[in-house]
Amino acid sequence: MSLHDAPALTVQSLGSGSSGNALLISAGSSSVLVDCGVGPRALDAGLRGAGRGLADISAVLLTHEHTDHSRALPRLQRAGVRVVATAGTAEATGARGELVDQIPIGQALDVAGITVRALPVCHDAAEPCGFLVEREGVRVAVITDLGCEDEALLEPLATADLIVLEANHDAAMLRGGPYPLHLKRRVLSRSGHLSNDQCAGLLATAFARVPRARTVWLAHLSATNNRPELARRVVARALVGQNMVHPIVPLPRQSLGPTWRAGEHQTTAVQLQMSLL
Ligand SMILES: [Zn+2]
Ligand SMILES: [Zn+2]
Repeated sequence: MSLHDAPALTVQSLGSGSSGNALLISAGSSSVLVDCGVGPRALDAGLRGAGRGLADISAVLLTHEHTDHSRALPRLQRAGVRVVATAGTAEATGARGELVDQIPIGQALDVAGITVRALPVCHDAAEPCGFLVEREGVRVAVITDLGCEDEALLEPLATADLIVLEANHDAAMLRGGPYPLHLKRRVLSRSGHLSNDQCAGLLATAFARVPRARTVWLAHLSATNNRPELARRVVARALVGQNMVHPIVPLPRQSLGPTWRAGEHQTTAVQLQMSLL
């Protein structure tokens, strides 16, 4: 494939969930990570699989300071990788110096030829955010670790070609499950995590605004309080009445996810309907 034919953006999940989150986004010769919460072996394997090494990473975009999103930060900083984070996340992770770019929520920044916008989320961290990543008109929205459906997320969700959105738990499984009460309250709170139903509702509202094809990756699934097929079914049912459709893929928690390339993965409504049978 010549450089001219290369997709504007290529995306792969290196891990998704409370054990570690990282997403590799490649654009031409440069790559960025969204979060770096996976262990060194998963990080290296993911990079190797994409034909990249640490030295090829232009920046890591940090959504927030929780360890499952920031575990590899010291290693990346030692390797000279730029950090892009809100002021609160930079402070909370101790990331400082010339290689740190602070991004205010709602604003955009150019990172190695990719436009990055920080999106508001509610979560129990210092200053958490999601990210909208754009290159050559192709958009990828990455939104995990949020307890409420912020109106400001609708536009990025409606216009993104690939959406990586949290579907953390099934509310009934969580309520009836083994978590201690304080943890159940935390996950269910407005600064906790998004349920399958909340995820489905947010997508249905956003997609109703703009009929177009896009791919949905369900992220940060709980191993205890969710099942991949359940999450996929809840979201698929909420979107079934819409014209344009959407492969819906629950991301694996501790292994490499699928690779998305801009311009691929278009499916029809008929295929989605069939997959529900
Ligand atoms: Zn998390
Ligand atoms: Zn978190």
